[in-house]
Amino acid sequence: MTFFGKLKKMMGFSAAQAGRAGETDPIEPSARLLRGRPKVYVLATGGTIAGRLASTGPRYRAGVLGIEALLGAVPALRGLADLSGEQVENIGSQDMDEFVWLKLAHRVNALLADPATDGIVITHGTDTLEETACFLDLTVRSPKPVVLVGAMRPAGSPGADGPTNLLDAVTVAAHPSAAGRGVLVVMHGSLFEARDVAKVSSLSLSAFAAPNAGAVGQLADGRIHYGQRAALSPERLVFDVSGLDRLPAVGIVYGHAGASATPVKALVDAGCRGIVSAGVGSGNVHRDVLAALADASGRGVIVVRASRVAAGLTLRNVEVDDNRFGFVAAGALNPQKARVLLQLALTRTRKAEAIQKMFDEY
Ligand code: ASP
Repeated sequence: MTFFGKLKKMMGFSAAQAGRAGETDPIEPSARLLRGRPKVYVLATGGTIAGRLASTGPRYRAGVLGIEALLGAVPALRGLADLSGEQVENIGSQDMDEFVWLKLAHRVNALLADPATDGIVITHGTDTLEETACFLDLTVRSPKPVVLVGAMRPAGSPGADGPTNLLDAVTVAAHPSAAGRGVLVVMHGSLFEARDVAKVSSLSLSAFAAPNAGAVGQLADGRIHYGQRAALSPERLVFDVSGLDRLPAVGIVYGHAGASATPVKALVDAGCRGIVSAGVGSGNVHRDVLAALADASGRGVIVVRASRVAAGLTLRNVEVDDNRFGFVAAGALNPQKARVLLQLALTRTRKAEAIQKMFDEY
């Protein structure tokens, strides 16, 4: 059996699960060899990687350059793959939302269902890149590589990192070894899995890390150097969003000394179906907030406890009685990613127990 055949078997990937007419098998490596260069799509959404220096006002604007300018600025890309570019959006990722997420998921699933596609690169602002990566990781139903990439410095600035990051991202998307690892993120020579990656510095070129798991590999000399080869997961949690044009409303409340119940009450009054608590320490909350969250949970709002701390896990029943209040514990997910998973989970169920299982599984 070929590598992709084994991979599909391991992932329990079948036409029936793929579910939609027209979805076909991933391309076999032998077919890729026959055809020649790998076929990679670059979907552009904006961000600093598409940013331009400004002469007045703030130093630069994100999401200005179009996909042609982006690809045209790095001629070496053409040596790596047969590239096609598409402009999906052109925004600073502070304006990213569920509608762009769904547009991306629909497009990525459609492109990857084509046997001629080998991989996809998505250019993205770094501010919310980890959330989009997490969303796609949970909604893309093909083992072919999907790689998100951004930049910390806009084109034209000294030491602009976009071109190198883009070259690295296409290198990964074009390589069969990147398949079956879920959605990946490439930044500043490091390769991360979507579930683990987070923006940890607001200005440094090394802005991304995977605080609990570490990077899965490094990019150097145009090659991927994997660290420990993580075992490919036999079954992945994947949500079918093909019929969706929006997601359930979920808000995040931030924990701090002297926190009040006001934000929780406001979210409940606004009709949120879920609340993620970015608690202190191991996901603890002030007693007033706890009372409001318990009340929300009693009214059927799903409450997920995560932590504002950058690394570590939020586990069940450590200092908070999750069993008593019907809360869900976020595990390794930070609050913004816990929100992504909760939004998707709520498209399937409103039962806290079932949602906890999804958090445990991811
Ligand atoms: N605000 C920008 C964005 O997220 C920052 C960046 O791309 O680095 O779009």
